[in-house]
Amino acid sequence: MPSSPLTLSRITVLSGGVGGARFLQGLLHGLRTGAVPGGSPDTQVTVVANTADDWWIHGLKVCPDLDTVMYTLGEGIDVERGWGRSQETWSAKTELEAYGVEPTWFGLGDRDIATHLVRTQMLEAGFTLSQVTEALCRRWLEPLHGRQVRLLPMSDDRVETHVAIADADSPSGRRVVHFQEYWVRLHAAVPAETVLAVGQDAATPAPGVLDAIATADLVVLPPSNPVVSVGTILGVPGIRAAVRSTPAPVVGVSPIVGPTHVHGMAQQMLTSIGVEVSAAAVGLHYGARSRGGVVDGWLLDTRDAEQLPRLEEAGVLARAVPLMMSDHDATAAMAAAAVELVAGLRT
Ligand code: GDP
Ligand code: CA
Repeated sequence: MPSSPLTLSRITVLSGGVGGARFLQGLLHGLRTGAVPGGSPDTQVTVVANTADDWWIHGLKVCPDLDTVMYTLGEGIDVERGWGRSQETWSAKTELEAYGVEPTWFGLGDRDIATHLVRTQMLEAGFTLSQVTEALCRRWLEPLHGRQVRLLPMSDDRVETHVAIADADSPSGRRVVHFQEYWVRLHAAVPAETVLAVGQDAATPAPGVLDAIATADLVVLPPSNPVVSVGTILGVPGIRAAVRSTPAPVVGVSPIVGPTHVHGMAQQMLTSIGVEVSAAAVGLHYGARSRGGVVDGWLLDTRDAEQLPRLEEAGVLARAVPLMMSDHDATAAMAAAAVELVAGLRT
């Protein structure tokens, strides 16, 4: 293992759902096995999770990215699907359909519903989303990770991503749907004309978020969706500025490998904001901190190595390594490469 001048007491990761959670699993594995230079099994990992995918459905508050991270790191995730609970059953969904209750396209599993019931009851009793998340994590994270891992929502305020799509039946020629409708009902199969994070301008970072960024030894942008996961987190007033000004190096990992995303819909979202779908373009979209952006280093996949000079010309340290999160060791190696890339930068 190469020696690292960076001692990692605290790492802060800005995460979406599936991509972020898988990266976090590999990072924690690498910290445990010693694969991550400068890290140790005691390195504290704070996850700031996107909450702009959240919505209310059947009277329940559902937070898909928080839950994907929580279930994944708590080993309660359905590994094949990548979201929701393992050993799930769907009786409530079937019963709701029998009543003709809409929408029928958004499935809540029976086990998962318990999480949403606890969350909704606590919110209605006056607890904040941060407090609720902490309570839920006592079941999922503490038994496996003790106090090593902390999961924070990006904000306690309601922020919801909506997507404008073409609609010939509407007088304006377009219609705005909630992110969940775009993704789950429409499978992101129609072009997204605009992406809006409703409520974002008035939102404030949740307690602990700015501090976790300011006091970290390393900040990581995992291969989460750059628009509707990391983009919405950075868009909460104060968070981008905190990432820009932290003394910690900031390193990102490309969610685009070759011509498109690995899973999900990064391609559709990048196209909607006019960013080319390539690993380099996403890195340039984040931009070098030395030139007004948010990253110091950017990892892209070996098959995209010819794009490295574009980043270096823009002031971003870049390296090409395998970026498929095929198992924990492969993902830990990605995390290690990310650390090595920026290890010399701590000011
Ligand atoms: P979501 O909220 O569930 O959509 O998850 P995230 O936003 O955290 O992550 C979604 C992104 O993860 C997608 O854009 C994928 O391209 C990316 N992703 C998933 N698996 C891999 C992988 O093995 N390697 C890389 N580099 N990216 C991946
Ligand atoms: Ca998400």
